[in-house]
Amino acid sequence: MAVPKKKISRSRRDMRRSHDALKTAAYEECPNCGELKRPHHICLSCGHYNNREVMDMGDDA
Ligand SMILES: [Zn+2]
Repeated sequence: MAVPKKKISRSRRDMRRSHDALKTAAYEECPNCGELKRPHHICLSCGHYNNREVMDMGDDA
């Protein structure tokens, strides 16, 4: 089995992990209903995208 020759120092280990943090997901307000939606996704509460309805949500959204 391949085994590392030297112990990774705390500094090196932490440098590696400097990119591991999760970023918070981006959200913006839907211009139609004001709910928060993901950018470049249809609004999950009213089914609108680019200021028109692209999905029938079934309810009176
Ligand atoms: Zn909406």
